Amino acid sequence: MSFEKLNLIEPILKALQTEGYTHPTPIQAQSIPLVLDGRDLLGCAQTGTGKTAAFAIPIIQLLHEEHRNPKAPRPIKCLILTPTRELAIQIGESFSAYGRNTSLRHTVIFGGVNQHSQVQALKAGVDVLIATPGRLLDLMNQRYIDLRHLSLFVLDEADRMLDMGFIHDVKKVIAVLPAKRQSLFFSATMPPDVAKLADTILRTPAKVEVTPVSSTAEKVEQAVYFVDKPDKKALLQHVLEDESIASALVFTRTKHGADKVVKDLVKVGIKAEAIHGNKSQNARQRALTNFKSGETRVLVATDIAARGIDIDELSHVINYELPNIPETYVHRIGRTGRAGASGKALSFCDAEEKEFLRDINKLIGLKVPVVENHPYPLIGNGTPSPEPERRQGGGRSGGRPQGNRPAGDRRGNPHATDRRNESRSPGNDRRQGDNRRPTASATRDKRRD
Ligand code: AMP
Repeated sequence: MSFEKLNLIEPILKALQTEGYTHPTPIQAQSIPLVLDGRDLLGCAQTGTGKTAAFAIPIIQLLHEEHRNPKAPRPIKCLILTPTRELAIQIGESFSAYGRNTSLRHTVIFGGVNQHSQVQALKAGVDVLIATPGRLLDLMNQRYIDLRHLSLFVLDEADRMLDMGFIHDVKKVIAVLPAKRQSLFFSATMPPDVAKLADTILRTPAKVEVTPVSSTAEKVEQAVYFVDKPDKKALLQHVLEDESIASALVFTRTKHGADKVVKDLVKVGIKAEAIHGNKSQNARQRALTNFKSGETRVLVATDIAARGIDIDELSHVINYELPNIPETYVHRIGRTGRAGASGKALSFCDAEEKEFLRDINKLIGLKVPVVENHPYPLIGNGTPSPEPERRQGGGRSGGRPQGNRPAGDRRGNPHATDRRNESRSPGNDRRQGDNRRPTASATRDKRRD
């Protein structure tokens, strides 16, 4: 299947060529014809599957084909609602890339920054508005945004939107949208509350679904190092002696942990920066730009900060700490295997994390190969080999005390952990688009942080 077969217009085909895309990904091949046909869409797909282009490309085509007097004012025709500023920025970049040969205008609005330039862009007129819910409502309340002429609506990462406590904001937005519209709804998972929300938004939607979470793992080369917790710092430096690791995304469970890893690496002359919820928007963007350009070799991130990051050709993911939710592991390592590319994922597992590794092995249906010879072998606790077969009970959380899991985790929701592990700061209120309401479990985690 080629893009030509999808009846795309020349300006888009040319833009895709410029991007170096030769074939549509499965979600694109399924979604593009349906959206061009005017159908509502319920898409079950996670980041990394090419889902942004799956909605951006047909939207650009539909709007480009609308005849319009170039001198007439530009009402907003399409709203894309997404939970975080990182995702919003990336969607904006996608519209710039795929729409480069059209005259469509878009803008991105999110909280945590001054609204002035966003208001100026809105006043100039845009066809497509990409927004996080808090800032969107703020600017709507200030009457800078009029959605009465909207014909297309996209709700991106709906499960995450709900996890982050945005359900009321989302409902408020939906309430003011014209009833006659085409709606696209994307979510990585489809728990009942998300399906219920989809029901209220969509009309006889076509359903598309790609890549169940566990199969992402297959194309990534994986390895695990058993190591005592205090030795992880030295092991990371040892691993990074391998110069074939041009760039690595290192995951830690907490923001404090991310800062500590950066400090330790910088001390030994390895260029590293951290990206997490305590950093300002500018600092995050700078860290990301430096990493993308190769200026920094190592980017250290927490799960929630990393989720929206879109980096082409990332060669290595290093799990400095293993996540306690196995789906989070798959999300992490999936960052190296984007759109068919292959990559490597290395994990550091201490004695306490062995049970997490068992759950991961079970979810991905294979045993992550163990690196036997390295200078910092685990001596702290028992034999290093995890044996999934020995587990009792068979459930994903078997062997792990249930009391360690917050209610959200029991649903098997991969994002629940992410939310818990990002603590809140006073300047980080919910209106900033990427932020969460404090919860009892969050407070607990903040103490741990
Ligand atoms: P997404 O799932 O939208 O976050 O996209 C994941 C990555 O795949 C992004 O870096 C896109 O630039 C890239 N991508 C999307 N579609 C294609 C395609 N058809 N061919 C190659 N790369 C793609």
